[in-house]
Amino acid sequence: MNRDAIFNIALEIWGIVICVLAFVALLLERNQKKEKKGVSLCMEAACILLLVCDSLAWCYRGNTGDAAYYIVRISNFCVYMINYMYMSLFMLYLLINLNRGEKIMPVRARAVLVLSGIGILLLVVSQFSDGLLYYIDADNIYHRSNGYIISQIIAAVGLVLCFTIIIQYRKRIEKAVFWATMSYFILPCISTIVVMFYYGLSLQTVSVVMSTQIMFVVDMIDVDRRLLSSKLQIKNAKYEAEHDSLTGLYNKTAGLERIRGYISSMTDEDKASVLFVDIDDFKSVNDTYGHAAGDYWIEVVGKLLKGECDSDDIACRFGGDEFVLIHKGIADVESMSAKMKRFARKMQLKATEYGQDVHCSAGVCQIVGSGHDPEECINTADNALYEAKEKGKHTSVIHSIDINGTENVTILDRINADVKEIQERIAARISYMYTVMIYVNIQSGDYRVLKGAEDLQKSVESAGSYGEVVTIIENRLESERSRLIIGEFLAQDRMESQQQEALTVSFANNDGGADLMHVLKVKEGGDSGFFIVVQNLDVYVG
Ligand code: GH3
Ligand code: MG
Repeated sequence: MNRDAIFNIALEIWGIVICVLAFVALLLERNQKKEKKGVSLCMEAACILLLVCDSLAWCYRGNTGDAAYYIVRISNFCVYMINYMYMSLFMLYLLINLNRGEKIMPVRARAVLVLSGIGILLLVVSQFSDGLLYYIDADNIYHRSNGYIISQIIAAVGLVLCFTIIIQYRKRIEKAVFWATMSYFILPCISTIVVMFYYGLSLQTVSVVMSTQIMFVVDMIDVDRRLLSSKLQIKNAKYEAEHDSLTGLYNKTAGLERIRGYISSMTDEDKASVLFVDIDDFKSVNDTYGHAAGDYWIEVVGKLLKGECDSDDIACRFGGDEFVLIHKGIADVESMSAKMKRFARKMQLKATEYGQDVHCSAGVCQIVGSGHDPEECINTADNALYEAKEKGKHTSVIHSIDINGTENVTILDRINADVKEIQERIAARISYMYTVMIYVNIQSGDYRVLKGAEDLQKSVESAGSYGEVVTIIENRLESERSRLIIGEFLAQDRMESQQQEALTVSFANNDGGADLMHVLKVKEGGDSGFFIVVQNLDVYVG
């Protein structure tokens, strides 16, 4: 056996191992479509047979004896036949990949099948016509005949037809699949060029096998990807079926099912609080500020309630502006009222920040131990909410049912958030826009500089009256006209009588540029405070 033969056989044995592994992997793959799996398995089997036959042909080439006589003839016959059959299999593989939605079966595809048939027919004829395509001499060595070119033309026409189909319908397949199928043209072309210079290697056979493996790998990746995306779709669909799109909380069905489930599973050591929360006068929130603002508040309430939950608590949007939660492990009035106060405070901060009067009422049913009827607990919390509404809204009612069934009712009245906290929050939100920020409350005599030079801060905060504050501000301006404008703008009677949320005036600043002064009312019940802010326009000009 010469060096070429040994090299070819070694190469093909490796090929056989890889193809067998791919064949088994395909056989075990459950997520590949049946049709495609069938064709791919046939392609892999064809590759295995092709390699076995070609390596046998190489092995017995030039050997004498009966075994060599038959093996060389049979294996060469098989190599030709499998190549033609593979062309048809490739065509079918191509059609399966291209047939998405609207099915296609171009005449060219049928022509490829017919060409394969003609090729096999000629091959059979060749066996009886003394080597139409090839012949094997007395030393059992394979030789091409004059008619060999016919077999090549049939294969080439078949390939060109497949190629035109891929190019025409390339948009139907993904890039990776396109290039994997293109390898069936590219690799044999490269092999043909190499073989022109170095005859003696079965590179064309190897290239067909290689392109089959490329298609196999791309198909497997595609199957994995599709599997992953369908799993993701199922997960998303499940999430959407169980969650409210506006708040991201569980919807009524999913939430109540979990809450009921938890109450039923409670042991003697467990305790929990079922909480109903409803936005007060939500219809008028919608009417006054618009439906979009209403949606915003539903989102805010959902978020704030979720913020009060531990990781295993359950929160759901019961519907409209109503929410139901269960806080696990809490059944004492102190912890629950601390939670409710924190929630109400955060709501009030938000409401003040947005200048909209929005608050909630809540009803709680606290339970300890096992054996509670979930429906009864939910109804008790719902009734507590009703009581809270009856008490004038902006209120929480906590029903605690102890282990003996004795009920205690606690009422938390409206909670007013710390005004200073609100002011600071507003200041933080808008301070980046302003060079000076002063908070003024004429009634309480509270004057504070939230942003501005240190000397301004000192003098404003020690001012004895609002008039003094205005004078301090005026005196910092160099232009007489600006002082006049600001004096009139900030006049006490004007400030006390003005109804608008905001007033603005422009004036010349000390740098010869322009400033705007705004007066912004603090929107919270009963407080007549306002901000005086200065906005430097030169920043915007350049
Ligand atoms: P109460 O203080 O007694 O709760 O009075 P209310 O006006 O809030 O009354 P109710 O809770 O019955 O009002 C619910 C309103 O919520 C009715 C409906 O128009 C509105 N609503 C329901 N779902 C949505 C929603 O998804 N977005 C908005 N913006 N409004 C909603
Ligand atoms: Mg309501």
